[in-house]
Amino acid sequence: MRFNTRLIHAQQPADPLTGAVNTPIYLSSTYRQSAPNRHRGYVYSRSGNPTRAVLESTLADLESGRVGLAFSSGLGAFATLLEMFPSGSRIVAGDDLYGGTWRLFEHHRRQFGVRVEYVDLGRPGAAAAALKEPADLVYAESPTNPLLKLVDLRTVARLGHAAGALVVADNTFATPARQHPIELGADIVLHSTTKFLGGHSDILGGALVARERKVGERLAWLQNAVGAVPSPVDSFLVLRGIHTLGVRMSAHEASARAVAEVVDGHRAVRTVHYPGLRSHPQYVLARRQMSGPGGIVTIDLRGGGAAVRRFLRGLKVFTLAESLGGVESLVDHPASMTHASVPRAEREAHGVTDGVVRLSCGIEDPADLADDVRAALGRV
Ligand SMILES: *Cc1c(COP(=O)(O)O)cnc(C)c1O
Repeated sequence: MRFNTRLIHAQQPADPLTGAVNTPIYLSSTYRQSAPNRHRGYVYSRSGNPTRAVLESTLADLESGRVGLAFSSGLGAFATLLEMFPSGSRIVAGDDLYGGTWRLFEHHRRQFGVRVEYVDLGRPGAAAAALKEPADLVYAESPTNPLLKLVDLRTVARLGHAAGALVVADNTFATPARQHPIELGADIVLHSTTKFLGGHSDILGGALVARERKVGERLAWLQNAVGAVPSPVDSFLVLRGIHTLGVRMSAHEASARAVAEVVDGHRAVRTVHYPGLRSHPQYVLARRQMSGPGGIVTIDLRGGGAAVRRFLRGLKVFTLAESLGGVESLVDHPASMTHASVPRAEREAHGVTDGVVRLSCGIEDPADLADDVRAALGRV
């Protein structure tokens, strides 16, 4: 089956009990046993829940992996993943990361003696230099949050494997509708399903998908041991969001292109970061690695923080809020919001200055979004 059909049918049979076409929400924390340890596969909902199980096998299918696991948030998934790496482990991570990911890496570095090195994995030379020495984990976002830098996942996976590392890709921005890291060589894909997969800004969720069963079983053990699992209702809502991922991503991209055309070359804008523009330094890689550039456009305003405040006051359709990937357009100021936990010097060293604004383009009429951004830039 092709991808848009798999979104709706893969691993989602009609309910075997009733024929319901939608996966029922099994609100039960526990399951009757006919004798001690005699049961139908479900014992306790931290270990497994039938609604979550359908979501998990759907995620595995969409990401071309063997094992899918759902979590209570993206960071819940990431924290569980980090449990795999004892003190002394060497981790090579990208240098432009979601702020919460960076914060937890730093916590593990300080608290547990894990070695974390941040490298611009978008530069193959830098990745190769860092992976000359053995490593246990390579962690890459592509595209990155918020600067939409790309990592050549095939090359980095090859380098990571040669260094003996497990290679993990955060595929939150691209989604499986636009990029398949496991097919490019990654061992594990991570998601914040809060974003495009959920798609409606109404739940928190996360996911890990493992290419190999053995890695997946280790993660499944940790998922149960740590317990950062989603509720059955949230599992259902992610499944429901997944059904429309194909049409939503096309609409997000139409909006993002309309917005990118307005900001590209505008006198108030110093830099535009959007992999769908020819001016993006990795445009060729984007065309090769992704089937579309996605729905996020990041801009750097010339006037810094003061210009950002004027721009934000001028927006009528975009809502100032954290998060992204929902049907409604959202605007974020990383320096003071999503990435405020990263110290200024570190942030600015890799380009997240006070003028940076991240636009999550929703599925409203693209012309309204373009008008909104044009009018707000006019006030800068
Ligand atoms: C939001 C986000 C996360 C964290 O996910 P939560 O669901 O907020 O815990 C991780 N990675 C990326 C790229 C994100 O955008």
